[in-house]
Amino acid sequence: MDCLFCKIAQKEIPARVAYEDQDILVFEDIAPKAPVHLLIIPRRHITSLNELASADVMLAGKLLLTAKKCAQEKGISDDGYRLVFNCNEAGGQTVFHLHAHLMGGRSLTWPPG
Ligand code: AMP
Ligand code: ZN
Repeated sequence: MDCLFCKIAQKEIPARVAYEDQDILVFEDIAPKAPVHLLIIPRRHITSLNELASADVMLAGKLLLTAKKCAQEKGISDDGYRLVFNCNEAGGQTVFHLHAHLMGGRSLTWPPG
């Protein structure tokens, strides 16, 4: 499968990795939209939130808890941050491998565009 984030997960394409374990990889976004902008992905290919299954409940929880941990490690927990899943075209998804954007380090406006 020709998937950019699968290639990053398999270390075929380099990335600045912030955290990894057997299920999850966290790396810096190549075009950061905030001083802290990390992408949190499952190693296994899941196309979008639409394809997340009930059986993936542990993985889904791990994605959230990993985001919390990375926010703490980056020192943005107290000030605040945002966790975003873009889903499909209207949601702004451009890479079709499930990922959460963890953004912080500045005041974020609401609503997003
Ligand atoms: P989305 O638009 O929600 O699908 O987010 C995809 C994100 O992947 C964008 O914020 C891109 O800047 C980021 N991105 C694209 N290619 C790379 C790459 N090679 N390494 C790290 N981040 C990337
Ligand atoms: Zn993939």
